Amino acid sequence: MIYQQLVTLLACPDCRSKVEQIDVRRLRCGGCGREYAITEDDILVMMPTSSKPLPDAYNDPDYIRMSAHFDDSSPYFTDGNTVFRAIHESAHRKIAGWMESGPQDGWVCDIGCGQGYHYRYVKAPERVIGLDIRLDSLRRVRNISPLTPLIQADSCALPFKTGVIATAISIYAFEHIYYLRDTLAETARILEPKARLFVGLPCEGGIAWTLGRKITSERAMSRRYNVDYRKYIALEHCNTASRVMTTLEEFFDRDRRWYFPLSMLPTVHSNLTVALALTRR
Ligand SMILES: [Zn+2]
Repeated sequence: MIYQQLVTLLACPDCRSKVEQIDVRRLRCGGCGREYAITEDDILVMMPTSSKPLPDAYNDPDYIRMSAHFDDSSPYFTDGNTVFRAIHESAHRKIAGWMESGPQDGWVCDIGCGQGYHYRYVKAPERVIGLDIRLDSLRRVRNISPLTPLIQADSCALPFKTGVIATAISIYAFEHIYYLRDTLAETARILEPKARLFVGLPCEGGIAWTLGRKITSERAMSRRYNVDYRKYIALEHCNTASRVMTTLEEFFDRDRRWYFPLSMLPTVHSNLTVALALTRR
C-alpha cells in the first residue's frame, strides 16, 4: 500500500526504465525485467545488481568488526549524554526549521536516513522517503515510523526517474560515502530543477571535532568493541566536511551555511557540526 503512489516516480537502478507493481510484494522493471521485492515489514529493496567496489583498505579486520556494530553503537552518539545529544540534534533541528519555513508539497528523499533519527522532526512521514544501503537500519526506522516509504538503495544509483523529487535531505551521511561525487550527481539528477537540498555534517577534519573525538568516542569505542577506532573512522568518515562542501558546490548553489555551536565563528575548526541549505542548479 505504502508504495502504490510512489511507483510512478521509481526507475530501475540498473537500466533506469520505469517499473510497475505486479503484486503486493513485487515490482518489475519494464526494460530489463528485473524484479524488486517488498519485504514482510514493507521495505522496498532496490539495490543495483552491482556497485563500484570499495578499495582493499575496507577489508581491514578492525573496520569489518566495528562496522558490524554500526547500529548498536549509534545510540552512544545520538543519546549517550546530554552534550552528545545536543551536538547530534543541532543539524537535525536547524534543517527541520528551514524545511518548515519553505514549501510543503512534493516528495522528500532522506538520503542515508540511517535509523531514522530525523523522522522525529517530520510532520508528514508518509511523504518522506527514507533511503539507506543498510537493511538493518531501515528495519529500525520501520519500528518507529510505520507509514513511511523505506527503500534499500545505493546512493550512487538511486531508484528514481530524473527530476521527480521536490526536496532532498541528508544528515550525517555524506561524510561516509566513498564515491561521493557519484552520489551527489545522482541526488542532483532525481531532484526537480531549483529543488532544495539540506545537508548536515560533522566537522570532520576540524580541530575541535578531532580533539573531541580523541577524548570521548575514540577511547570508549576502542575499549567497548576491542578495535582500533582511529583506523575505523579514517575509513568510515572518508570525507572531511570541507571536501563534502566543496564537492556539493559542483552541483548545487549554496544558500545558507550554519555552524554549531559557534555560529558567529563560522569555521570547520572551531565547530562540531554544520548545516547547509542548497539549491539544485
Ligand atoms: Zn531495468
